[in-house]
Amino acid sequence: MEGTPIIYFDNAATTRTDPEVLDAMRPFFCEKFGNASSQYYDTGRQARTALEESRGKLAALLGAGADEVFFTAGATESDNWVIQSLALTDSKKHVITSAIEHHAILEPLAFLKKNGYCDFTLLPVDSLGRVSPDDLRKAIRPDTGLVSIMHANNEIGTIQPIRELSTVAHDAGIPFHTDACQSVGKVELDVVELGVDLLSLSAHKFHGPKGIGALYARKGVRLTAFLHGGGQESRRRAGTSNVAGAVGMAKAAELAGSRYIPDGPRQATVIEDIWKALSAAIPKMHRNGDPVGRIPNLLSLCVEGAEGEAILGYLDMSGIQVSSGSACTSGSLEPSHVLLACGVPVERAHGSIRISLSHESTQEDALKLIDAMPKAVARLREMSVTWKG
Ligand code: PLP
Repeated sequence: MEGTPIIYFDNAATTRTDPEVLDAMRPFFCEKFGNASSQYYDTGRQARTALEESRGKLAALLGAGADEVFFTAGATESDNWVIQSLALTDSKKHVITSAIEHHAILEPLAFLKKNGYCDFTLLPVDSLGRVSPDDLRKAIRPDTGLVSIMHANNEIGTIQPIRELSTVAHDAGIPFHTDACQSVGKVELDVVELGVDLLSLSAHKFHGPKGIGALYARKGVRLTAFLHGGGQESRRRAGTSNVAGAVGMAKAAELAGSRYIPDGPRQATVIEDIWKALSAAIPKMHRNGDPVGRIPNLLSLCVEGAEGEAILGYLDMSGIQVSSGSACTSGSLEPSHVLLACGVPVERAHGSIRISLSHESTQEDALKLIDAMPKAVARLREMSVTWKG
């Protein structure tokens, strides 16, 4: 609504670019605009220096070596790269993943399987959205070449036991990939402690710019080139480097360490306050995901007797922006595959709402949601022909 101040609670979809990130990027458009591959003059060398410094800063956030970080266009590309590398060049073409992965994992797998390039197994999750290391152990086949399990789920926030899962994979000699794009910048992550070989991340999920991400690939892990052309990214991902994007992503990584991650416990408290107040005010509302082992900024709810999309519409009229399921699937009326995998009944899954905060979200913002949402639900239930209270 024009004139209504916006309360943005959809930070799992994307985040506001931090003004400090934008300031860091700005010189790389008009002054320091050089091509990082042009090393015979200063403009190009400046760009290369900035690109490599950025790689180092991003690597530092992950506990990785700079030569283990490859810039991409985002987590979708990083995920596709990992799957394609296995399907096209590995002799072992079976992938184990989970039923609650993002479509950036599930869709390339489905496409490559349909065309005869790979096979995959989806591991189930429990009611809180957790993958069991035992299930992983049992699913391993002689031709399994990759395990890919996300770090935190984008719809329900549950964090997987990555260290245990990667140990199971490694015990069988299988590399382990994790899509960590919902966790980077929210919680401390260290690739060595996690025991992962490959990790996908995306700048716009932690106040960096859109259109840039990265893939961490442990030195020595098998990873074929993804884009063929020039020799950029150690000959593995051709194309003129997005220097401004890399600089912005690196600045966001620095701010994540000093500002966003330390704010996590405060966001977790605000999330608990929202849950307590809404669950007291709205009967027959359920919390999804693991209430303890989760990223601090996300609350997923299912409201009986009201469509998620309709609740979003009402909240939007009050200037409050939340989402229903994941941004990539909203617009489709299919219930979320994540909620269904957690055993949420189809009917209830239609009433899902995702509230996701950032370091910019305040207690006052939360109070406005706590005021508006029960009214929205009550109104929708009044109008419902099926709601029986
Ligand atoms: N993986 C997960 C878990 C996500 O939440 C998202 C974005 O919603 C993606 C991948 C895709 O990221 P990107 O927008 O950087 O391609």
